[in-house]
Amino acid sequence: MSRERRELKQVSPEKPFGMYCCGPTVYGPAHIGNFRTFLLQDVLRRTLEVDGIKVRHVRNITDVDDKTIRRSQEEGKTLAEFTAAWTKKFHDDCAALNMLPPQVEPSAVEHIPLQIAMIEQLVARGNAYVAPDGSVYFKVSSDPHYGKLARLDRDALRTQSTNSNGDANVADEYTRDNVSDFALWKARKPEDGPNFWQSPWGEGRPGWHIECSAMSTHYLGETFDLHGGGIDLCFPHHENEIAQAECSCGHHDTFAQHWFHSAHLMVDGAKMSKSLGNLYTLADLEGKGFSPMAVRYALISGHYRSQLNFTLKSLDDATAALEKIEKAARKLLDKAGITPEEFSQDITVHEQNTAWGAFEPAWTALCDDLNIPGAIGKIFSAFAELNKTELSQADAGTQLCGLAKILSALGIRLFTKQEAAPADIPAEIVALGEQRWAAKQARNWAEADALRNKLAELGWKSLDRKDGYSLEKI
Ligand code: AMP
Ligand code: ZN
Repeated sequence: MSRERRELKQVSPEKPFGMYCCGPTVYGPAHIGNFRTFLLQDVLRRTLEVDGIKVRHVRNITDVDDKTIRRSQEEGKTLAEFTAAWTKKFHDDCAALNMLPPQVEPSAVEHIPLQIAMIEQLVARGNAYVAPDGSVYFKVSSDPHYGKLARLDRDALRTQSTNSNGDANVADEYTRDNVSDFALWKARKPEDGPNFWQSPWGEGRPGWHIECSAMSTHYLGETFDLHGGGIDLCFPHHENEIAQAECSCGHHDTFAQHWFHSAHLMVDGAKMSKSLGNLYTLADLEGKGFSPMAVRYALISGHYRSQLNFTLKSLDDATAALEKIEKAARKLLDKAGITPEEFSQDITVHEQNTAWGAFEPAWTALCDDLNIPGAIGKIFSAFAELNKTELSQADAGTQLCGLAKILSALGIRLFTKQEAAPADIPAEIVALGEQRWAAKQARNWAEADALRNKLAELGWKSLDRKDGYSLEKI
C-alpha cells in the first residue's frame, strides 16, 4: 500500500498473525503459475512460524463464478460435484508440493449468507444500490478512499458508474482504464441453471469480489495482519475487497495491514495463464520425470517481487541443486551419526533448538523482505564454509539443526526419493528406462513421453536427475 519497505508488525501480538490469501478458482487443475503464488505464501508462513510466530492462515476456495458455473454445465455435473473434484486435485498437488494446509479454507458457496449480510450493510450505508433487474452494485463514487491500493485517479472516478461503453459492469475482471461500479450480487440469469440463491433482492448469486471481504473479516476480524495474492489481483480484486470491507463497517484503513503481492511466473515474456494456454501443471512436469520437490525449489527460487521466467532447464537446475544439498547434508549426518530418516522426521527437536550455526546468514536473508534466492545462496556458502572446517560430532549436530530450520522455512524436504534397488526392477522396465533416458538425452520429447506412458502403464516412473535417473514403483 505504501510502496515502501516497512517492518512487518502484528496488529495484536497476543493473537495469531492473521494471514488471508486469495485461493484457487476450482474449475480445472491449478497451473504452476498459481502455485508460484501459493508456494511463496507458504514460505512466508513457514518463515513466521520458524521465527516462533503463531499464524492463522485463511485461504478461500472460489467455487461459484462465471467459469465454474459454465464448465460444470458443459460437463453435465452439478456445481458441487464439479468443484469438489477440482478442490481435491488442488489439495493433492499442494500436499505433493509440501505446502502446509491453511487452518481455515472457506468455500464461497458455503458462505452465501455472510456475503448477503455484507451487501445489505453496504446498501444500508449508501455504498451500494439495487439495479432494476435485482442485481446490486457497489457505488464507487460513494467511497472517497476507493483506488488507494492501485493508486487510481480519484477525479476520474467521481462521476463514473458505468463502463466505457456506458453499460453496467457485470464482469468480475476488468482493467484500471475501465473502472466503474461493480457487481456485488448478480440477478439470476438463464445460463446460471440451478445455481442461484435467495436474497433480499431476489434470486441470484454473489459477484466474485465480495466473498474475500466477507470471509477474511469473518475469520480474522475487521483488521488483520496480511493479505496475499498474485500481483494481477491488486486491481480490481483487492481494491474492491478493501472498499467492500471498509465501507461495510464504516472504518477506513482497518482492512489488511500489509499486502503481499507476488510477481508472475512468465513463459517467453508472457504471464503463464489458462487464457494463453502456455501453462504447465504439476502432473505435466511429473510426467517429464521431475519431482514435486524440484518443482517447488524452482518456483520459489526467484524473489517474490520479481517476475520469474519458467523453463524446463530451471527444473534440471533445481534437481541438481537439491542433490547438491542432499550430498552436503549427508556429510554432516555421517559426522553427527544421524540417519537421513531421523533428520527428515525429527523437525520438532530442530525447532526447539535456537542455534543457526553457519546457516545464520541464510536466515537473515529470509527475514529481509523474504529474500529466498539470497537465502539459498547463503545455504551453499554455509556448506562451503563447513567443508573447510573440522567438525566434532556435536558441532555437526548443531549445524544440522540450523540446516533443518532453514529448510523447514523454505519447505524443502530432503531424502524423499524411495529408489528401488536395481535387483528389484524387472529387466523389461530397466530396458524401457534406458530407452527413455536415451530419447530424453537426444531431446526426442515425443518418444521420451511415449516411453514414459508405457512405463506408467506398467506401474513404474523415472526420476530424472541432471546426470542420470532412477526408476521407482508408482
Ligand atoms: P486463480 O485460481 O485464477 O484465482 O488464481 C490463483 C492465484 O494464482 C492468484 O493469487 C493469482 O494472482 C495467481 N496467479 C495466476 N497466474 C499466475 C502466474 N502466472 N504467476 C504467479 N501467480 C499467478
Ligand atoms: Zn480474494
